[in-house]
Amino acid sequence: MTDDHNLFTELRNAFPADLGATAIETADGDRRFYTWRDIDRATAMLANLLGSLGLPAGARVAVQTEKSVEALMLYLAVLRAGFVYLPLNTAYQGGEVEYFIGNAEPSVVVCSGKNFGWVSKIAFRAGTAHVFTLNDDRTGSLLERAAHHSDRHTPARKAEGDMAAILYTSGTTGRSKGAMLSHGNLLSNALTLKSYWGWKPGDVLIHVLPIFHVHGLFVASHGALLNGSKMIWFSRFDPLAVIARLPEATVFMGVPTLYVRLLGEAGFTRETCRNMRLFISGSAPLLIETFNDFRARSGHTILERYGMSETVMLTSNPCDPALGERRGGTVGFALPGVQLRVMDDQRRPCAADEIGGIEVRGPNVFAGYWRMPEKTAEEFTPDGWFKTGDVGKVDAQGVVTIVGRSKDLIITGGYNVYPAEVEGYLNDMPGVAESAVIGVPHPDFGEGVVAVVVAKPGAAPTPDVLMGELKTRIANFKVPKHLFVVPDLPRNAMGKVQKNLLREQHKGLFAR
Ligand code: AMP
Repeated sequence: MTDDHNLFTELRNAFPADLGATAIETADGDRRFYTWRDIDRATAMLANLLGSLGLPAGARVAVQTEKSVEALMLYLAVLRAGFVYLPLNTAYQGGEVEYFIGNAEPSVVVCSGKNFGWVSKIAFRAGTAHVFTLNDDRTGSLLERAAHHSDRHTPARKAEGDMAAILYTSGTTGRSKGAMLSHGNLLSNALTLKSYWGWKPGDVLIHVLPIFHVHGLFVASHGALLNGSKMIWFSRFDPLAVIARLPEATVFMGVPTLYVRLLGEAGFTRETCRNMRLFISGSAPLLIETFNDFRARSGHTILERYGMSETVMLTSNPCDPALGERRGGTVGFALPGVQLRVMDDQRRPCAADEIGGIEVRGPNVFAGYWRMPEKTAEEFTPDGWFKTGDVGKVDAQGVVTIVGRSKDLIITGGYNVYPAEVEGYLNDMPGVAESAVIGVPHPDFGEGVVAVVVAKPGAAPTPDVLMGELKTRIANFKVPKHLFVVPDLPRNAMGKVQKNLLREQHKGLFAR
């Protein structure tokens, strides 16, 4: 037992004895094979480059690049060298990047060559000393510079609480905050998931998620690395290409939209899934219909789990049937080591099945928001529970269901409306594929309920019929005052519906 808690060291200790075996195989673009030795050497060279820059302790390395194996190596190298990794969504534009760089003050920024002009301008203005480029075809100044460094490197020693990464929250509500995650947070969660999800020798992961987010960067990558498992690596999700490689894989992780897209392909069959062991979904709610259709088509029951940037994973449906069945529409049990409670508006613990705010505590929970002590204080209770902002309930068996986000809660004429409840009724109606219910300013009621509905292909439900149906099922104050049928809902890269955009779009609806 050592007092070193560097996550990289733990991941490297899990590499298989045969370092010449394939660790990552790229599945789109040129097919390339990276061995475990390649990961060790490349991360050493990159860590040595970072080490040569004379960066201060705790320096942030901000990265906005296309997904590539080299970008994953850069993440691992930052851990290895003992600095702090700060991934940025590739969709972020000037205003957003300026905010993140201004807020995090990274010493190093790595961007795609095509964005060097504007990103470097923002970075240099914010005092960043080093800006490198990294492209998804293994070119760019970062790798050119790293090529001059040794491929041997002793990982930095890290304490459990030392910061490993800052993840900016996806900002579907309010301004994005930087969640500070430590080596200990990430490692404890990765170890818990390794055993809870039954990772075993021979598992092969299909990696399709972006690596600027907790799901693809931590849950998927750490899972495979800590198990010494090969990854079949896609730079983006293409359902047909994924289906073609499924027979070689055993584990797949996706956001709900990816499951919907797999189901949209006739070639997605039981036969293609014959070697699969586990399909995992998270980051946004999985519709019960998708859960059922997937089971009917593939013979596999999707395991839904729940987590967030601030906490990594919190709950999961069981993998081991001895622990119970996987229940669609729920996010399963609190993971071992994670404490979870539901509190009502008066801050009293809720009874079983009663809806309230979800709070959590555990070794996986972050230390706070970067340079936002007031926000941090607001979102932790005095006894150290983190208020997730999610609204949900726990049943008598301990199974957790998410009902919505507290910021999405609509208060209309003094009555509380949980959007997820109204969405549930709408989604069950014939011709409705999905829906989003929001509150927008209303001169009489404070907020007015508005529904935005997407029709199923070939169906044309009318607002009048849907509203009429709703009126027969739920209290009048919950029935939307307006209902729109639209082609799609706005979603971010993780498949979350961006209700803030819908609220913005419809904010003037009830203006006098
Ligand atoms: P992020 O930090 O971007 O991962 O967003 C975390 C938020 O995503 C959580 O607070 C939840 O609101 C939502 N989320 C994650 N997983 C699930 C899930 N399985 N079901 C419903 N919401 C989820």
